[in-house]
Amino acid sequence: MVKYLIVRCPKCGNVSAVMIGRKTKQCPYCGTRFEVYRAQILARARDGKEARELIIKFKQSSSL
Ligand SMILES: [Zn+2]
Repeated sequence: MVKYLIVRCPKCGNVSAVMIGRKTKQCPYCGTRFEVYRAQILARARDGKEARELIIKFKQSSSL
């Protein structure tokens, strides 16, 4: 069962996880609060561990 969405902050572009069902997310990097449905959804994760692994993966790919 999917519990988290991996989203990209519309302001700073950093990747973070948000629990399914949450309407807004505060970016841990720049502090911007944005609406989840307006953000770019990069992936879905079943648990916190998978979410962290996906965030690491997207950070590595975006820094290339
Ligand atoms: Zn941000």
